[in-house]
Amino acid sequence: MAHKGFGLTGKVAALTIVPLMILSVVMSIFIGFSGYQNVCDEISHEMSGVCVSVFEMLEHNEQYAAEKYDYFDNKADLFDGITERTGIYITVFEGDKRKITTVTNSSGERAVGTRAAAEVVNTVLGGGEEFFSDNVDVNGTEFFGYYMPIADQGGSVTGMVFAGKSRESVLENLVKSVAGSLVLSWVTALAAGLLSVLVSGGMVKALLSAADFLRVISQGDTECVADARLVNRRDEIGDMGRSAVKLQQALRKLISNDPLTGLYNRRACGIKMNDLRDRAGSEGAPFVAAIGDIDFFKRFNDNYGHACGDEVLKDISGILRDGVRNIGFASRWGGEEFLLIFNVPYNEALEALRRIMDRIHAYRCEYEGRDISVTMTFGISDYEGGTVDALVNAADSRLYYGKNHGRNCIVESIPEAIDDIVVI
Ligand code: GH3
Ligand code: MG
Ligand code: MG
Repeated sequence: MAHKGFGLTGKVAALTIVPLMILSVVMSIFIGFSGYQNVCDEISHEMSGVCVSVFEMLEHNEQYAAEKYDYFDNKADLFDGITERTGIYITVFEGDKRKITTVTNSSGERAVGTRAAAEVVNTVLGGGEEFFSDNVDVNGTEFFGYYMPIADQGGSVTGMVFAGKSRESVLENLVKSVAGSLVLSWVTALAAGLLSVLVSGGMVKALLSAADFLRVISQGDTECVADARLVNRRDEIGDMGRSAVKLQQALRKLISNDPLTGLYNRRACGIKMNDLRDRAGSEGAPFVAAIGDIDFFKRFNDNYGHACGDEVLKDISGILRDGVRNIGFASRWGGEEFLLIFNVPYNEALEALRRIMDRIHAYRCEYEGRDISVTMTFGISDYEGGTVDALVNAADSRLYYGKNHGRNCIVESIPEAIDDIVVI
């Protein structure tokens, strides 16, 4: 059956994959964000330590104590060794101006003489506070850097020390450190996605198979077989499949069985006979029909009542059902008329029918303290090619003959002489 929009498969796939994708994206953003925060904290801590080391170095330098910022004149390469070894850039500001620095532009010229950003000037020079920024721009190169104020003996801020790392190298390391976690989270999400697609795929398949099974039944095919993988499931979908099978069986019984006697009705008998006829035609399988009718049943009803007649019909049906067990089946062909079909050779069928006759003769129905008996007349015919109707008609003609020649007998053929009737 065609459905508009996404089918169940698409919906379940979307329900399992979309949340996982959202979760993965959120996890990635979180991993990246927290990684970045950690890097900022680490660099801030490390660079403040470097600034303190620069201070200590200068504090113990007598020449610096005497000359202050002039000390750095002609000492442009004072901190170059640190930068080369550690990748940490050092700058000393006199006021907001770079007095000495290891930061160079792309042509290798030092950024000496350039000025600090307004935010740095306000916070460090103006406020006397330390300052960290993850976005320090010096001549177009970006840094993660830490600023520490330099104060004179009177406490006035006269300059700053800056220690920083190039943003490019920091981000490169950040990507390396979070890449593992990101890959792990995506692989986990992918594995979880595959697992849920696998599990939900199995569920969807079973549901679709149940839907298909019910669709075929709704089209009138009560013989279709449910997928074993559906009915063997141990979950609610399996319960649904098993209920569908029970529904099919109940429906089959309802449309195939006569409610009073429980025997196959005429319709079901017709279908079954067609199958047997096919097998008889193609494989030469045995196929014998016997049609039987209760004798003087109208009178029986008149004498003992319809309810008593119903009981007799049920009892006779039981005898017929037992009599054909494993060698054929019995059906209620009309009111008190029954069609027996045998899938054994004619002689065996006739033997079985004779045993049935014996049991009917022995049968007694109790009515108001009296034992009442019934008799039946049968016509029997072996399949000799042709249609099912031809076989039934042949048996029916023999039954009719029996009704006109004494009843309570099995008629195998319509003879010239009455002696040919088998009377039991
Ligand atoms: P015979 O077949 O021997 O010629 O006589 P008969 O009296 O049986 O003939 P007929 O076939 O005309 O009558 C069949 C009777 O079966 C009529 C009807 O009352 C009875 N009958 C049919 N179906 C039912 C049923 O479901 N319950 C009962 N109690 N009687 C039924
Ligand atoms: Mg009758
Ligand atoms: Mg009749």
